[in-house]
Amino acid sequence: RKAPPGVVVIFGASGDLTERKLMPALARLAQYKRLPEEFRLVGVARSHLSDDEFRQRFPAGPAAEAPGLVETMRYVSGAYDDPQTYAHLRELLDSFDRDAGTAGNRLFYLATPPQAFVPIIENLAAAGLNQPGSPDGSARLVIEKPYGHDEASARDLDHRIHAGFEEDQVFRIDHYLGKDTVQNVMALRFANTIFQPIWNRTWIDQVQITVAETLGVGTRGGFYEHAGAMRDIVQNHVLQVLALALMEPPASFAPEALRNEKVKLLQSIRHPADGDIDQIAVRGQYTRGGTSGDLMPGYRDEQGVDPLSRTETYAAMRLNVDNWRWAGVPFYVRTGKRLPRRVTEVVLQFTRPPHLPISAAQVTGLQPDALILRIQPDEGITLRFGAKVPGHSFRVRTATMEFSYESTFREESPEAYERLLLDALIGDPTLFIRSDEVLQSWRIVDPIIEHWANSRGRIPLYEAASWGPDEADQLLARDGRSWHNPGGR
Ligand code: NAP
Repeated sequence: RKAPPGVVVIFGASGDLTERKLMPALARLAQYKRLPEEFRLVGVARSHLSDDEFRQRFPAGPAAEAPGLVETMRYVSGAYDDPQTYAHLRELLDSFDRDAGTAGNRLFYLATPPQAFVPIIENLAAAGLNQPGSPDGSARLVIEKPYGHDEASARDLDHRIHAGFEEDQVFRIDHYLGKDTVQNVMALRFANTIFQPIWNRTWIDQVQITVAETLGVGTRGGFYEHAGAMRDIVQNHVLQVLALALMEPPASFAPEALRNEKVKLLQSIRHPADGDIDQIAVRGQYTRGGTSGDLMPGYRDEQGVDPLSRTETYAAMRLNVDNWRWAGVPFYVRTGKRLPRRVTEVVLQFTRPPHLPISAAQVTGLQPDALILRIQPDEGITLRFGAKVPGHSFRVRTATMEFSYESTFREESPEAYERLLLDALIGDPTLFIRSDEVLQSWRIVDPIIEHWANSRGRIPLYEAASWGPDEADQLLARDGRSWHNPGGR
């Protein structure tokens, strides 16, 4: 797959995402010959940078040495709400179409904080840049998260975008979808026969999704204070993984077929009544913790954080999916900062055998069967099952079978941003979030966030480098269950 001729315009090009993710992704696409000669990159931001200073941010390596790409990079300095910025940009893009063969294909990547999204979108449309540069060209918007702050603001952002752009021009990023292991959830489920028959309420007792980070908020405290774990991770990454793991099989991987199934799944997640929220959702905030050699500050001591902050750095919920496949199965999801391990995984735990032909004493140490999808790091899949212990007596203990991406394929996965940029350049929206998906995701988390904002109770605390507040363990204990903690407690 190769991108067609065209221009990528990055707004917020002086920022962190551009330097750390977007430029390296473009460098790799160039290195692997996924970009044509008729490709151009333009950065736009308020900071004063020369073309050369902008070019110097591009990672060194084979792509930078290849003729053409870096020396043609351009930087436009201007305010995001100033029509002059867009007049200048339009001239530049028209000149590329004339002289560099970019064929009127334009991809506008919004890599600014969300406050700048609306001014950029409105000014692009006002300058006519919502239209392709030629009859056969394209004009696309790639929009970073966060997409809105709640359902109402996401809906408002949609209205403003749709005033100038059609939905099929809009590519909303959730970089989790660019990960091979997330896409492998679909390969596992829909390219095999052995899993689908057991992928339902008859055989699955519970599902757990964990997105655990070891880092704290670092220098992003100011941003995080307005977000919290539910908005930062659950609304997007967790619900996307959940949707792929639980949706019905799509008839094809055509973009709308797949996205329709995800939306249907999100629609069938039960909306909790306000009185039930404390029974199904738990929040937490990390306090000072770690070992004496590696003592980590509490959230309220972090730079940019209110010393009385009530922002959650941990969130856990029990979700119910009201459809034929999943009625009655609990889905436990959780995310947190400053947990003991960086890990993202989906655990499908199966029901116990209906009858055991052996005594309880023979199965001590036998956990229920489980399929563990290891999204990151240590990418792969674990099947946990019971096996006979060697010896003269018949005893059964838990064993595992491991599939490792690295050792099976011996090939590096592309970075998520690399894959998604290529898809957007080609115009394939399959791995991007459709408007109705975003709104459904906010519908699920909004009542909980609102309930927490209005609740006067104290926010549960957990020590840095622990697996979250006790309340999260109690959430599962009430159902007679416990969290699968990778690497143990
Ligand atoms: P950033 O460095 O804070 O901002 C990018 C650029 O936007 C800045 O260099 C700045 O450029 C401009 N900017 C900053 N504040 C602004 C404001 N209030 N109004 C208008 N422009 C402003 O952000 P980033 O980390 O690159 O992230 C960009 C977007 O990607 C954000 O929406 C973020 O949520 C999302 N994102 C980032 C990451 C990541 O790893 N960094 C990961 C996932 C999603 P000028 O001052 O030069 O105009």
